Amino acid sequence: MSSTPLLLTEYMPRSELVVERQTVTQPKFPVIDAHTHFGPLTNGPDFDTKYDTEAEVAKLRELGLEKVVTLEVAWDAELDRVFRKLEPCLDFFVVFGSVDVSRLDEPDFERSVWKTVSESKAKGVRGLKMWKNISLGMKDKDGKYVPIDDKRLQPIWQAAADLDLPILIHIADPVAFFRPIDQYNERYENLLKHPDWSFCAPELFTFEELMEQQENLIASNPNTTFVVAHGGSYSENLSQVAAWLRRYPNMHIDIAARLAEFGRQPYTSRRFFTEFQDRILFGTDYGPGYYDRTLYYEFLETWNEYFPYTRAPIPGQGRWNIYGIGLEDEILEKVYNKNAKRILKI
Ligand SMILES: [Zn+2]
Repeated sequence: MSSTPLLLTEYMPRSELVVERQTVTQPKFPVIDAHTHFGPLTNGPDFDTKYDTEAEVAKLRELGLEKVVTLEVAWDAELDRVFRKLEPCLDFFVVFGSVDVSRLDEPDFERSVWKTVSESKAKGVRGLKMWKNISLGMKDKDGKYVPIDDKRLQPIWQAAADLDLPILIHIADPVAFFRPIDQYNERYENLLKHPDWSFCAPELFTFEELMEQQENLIASNPNTTFVVAHGGSYSENLSQVAAWLRRYPNMHIDIAARLAEFGRQPYTSRRFFTEFQDRILFGTDYGPGYYDRTLYYEFLETWNEYFPYTRAPIPGQGRWNIYGIGLEDEILEKVYNKNAKRILKI
């Protein structure tokens, strides 16, 4: 037994806590995963040779999924490729497209937005995905960062409202990504592994500024339906998300990639899911090759205590475990599929 302290990277304690753990293998109701990526966004430009669509869908159906919503930053020819790839199973996939925001300063931007969105809808797109590349680093022709509530982006929200398409929007990342990477950062190991995920820089918008812009965007477009991804951008502070949801009936959230956050505050989460049972969509942020969603089901369905939110030996999003919130069947079914069906008009 050496007296030399371990490095943090070597430390992987195993919990000795002995508590009952209810096993979950299938979701209690059919699931619509409202936040996945089966196209170029996470699979790269050669996505159409990367996986077998029918084999993927067969596996997902076997595991209790009814449909998945694939969120793609794609339009025109790229969108056609997405549809071609998913063609054998278009009853399973709900496709979201997007808009080319790099044309923001072009004089005919408004017309090009309308053209893209209406053509995409005609091709079968059921909503728009607006990604964090806008709010977290897009510059205009003068080299200035563009806030998400910028007037120039207005044609997008307007077109979505006019064409009755919901917008799934990813605006910020976890709060810790906006703080210095130091001994106080709760995502220290996460950021050491991915230093490019840090948005702690004086020239960038702060997290607080992003949240002001987000609220202003939703408040000033009451006729546009927004699903704010990743727990409404602020799952670390559900009382703030709750305040927005009470104030803005056009706002909804998904829970994608925020199991670690919802699961570490089970009492608050349970109250939150109960109050906003009509406004929360199930989501994971998974793509092809990722099938197992049972930890999400375990969190939503059981009262299990202190279980890992990931299968990785060292939990990547912070060194803690999570707790189930034992949702009632009626709420569970809404979160699993009914809300998605209503909001996304599936
Ligand atoms: Zn995503």
